[in-house]
Amino acid sequence: MADINLIIIGPPGAGKGTQAAFLCREQNIPHISTGDMFRLAVKNATLLGLAAKSYMDRGELVPDEVTIGIVRERLSEKDVAKGFLLDGFPRTTVQAAALEEVLLSLGREITLVINVVVPEAELIRRLTGRLVCRSCGATYHRVFNLSPGGEVCGICRGELYQRSDDSEETALSRLAVYQRQTAPLLDYYAASGKLRNIDGLKPIAEVTAELRAVLAAKGT
Ligand code: ADP
Ligand code: AMP
Repeated sequence: MADINLIIIGPPGAGKGTQAAFLCREQNIPHISTGDMFRLAVKNATLLGLAAKSYMDRGELVPDEVTIGIVRERLSEKDVAKGFLLDGFPRTTVQAAALEEVLLSLGREITLVINVVVPEAELIRRLTGRLVCRSCGATYHRVFNLSPGGEVCGICRGELYQRSDDSEETALSRLAVYQRQTAPLLDYYAASGKLRNIDGLKPIAEVTAELRAVLAAKGT
């Protein structure tokens, strides 16, 4: 069977991580989230974490050479042989070009780019109410997506916390960064014929159903 190489793209808070978790479980492919990789590095106080932290705190993008380096390394690991889902990468045209180059060198190509479309006012509500499990990284929302565990994670009973970059001020900066640096990629992927737009404003289960339909139409 052909490998399934997916990108999930969209503004912060669109629901990329939420949908990626379902999709990767169903398709049995690794979920590669650059945001998660950076947060883990910050938590472990590694050199990468030290390099990334100040950018993340300001809601800015970590420099391309750092980000491309960690993705290149991750894509050389064995578990991506059957496919992968990239979440939060690429975020600039330089990153998109580097990804093409890495995949070309591996004899692979992107299967589909799924764009999760959500209006800005909703994004702010989602970001400022997001709760994340400190142990397993599962994502919930104070109003829209309650943890079945109540105050703790419904999966592992870990502590839930609010990301420091989910304050309203930093969320607004991140949305502006998305418009300026990432949204231009949509034209690039539309021109390649690989872009599929999904209505991310619907309830979580309906978005998942739409995603499944898009993948089924592609034969994956
Ligand atoms: P992203 O990875 O795109 O930044 P997340 O998947 O972390 O976004 O989702 C952002 C927030 O919105 C989380 O609190 C999540 O529980 C919530 N959320 C995700 N999808 C939906 C949806 N379809 N409707 C309502 N809330 C959602
Ligand atoms: P996310 O978890 O996707 O919302 O990302 C959180 C933060 O990590 C972003 O605001 C950036 O500072 C950093 N980050 C994640 N992915 C990238 C990327 N592809 N390029 C640059 N910075 C990134």
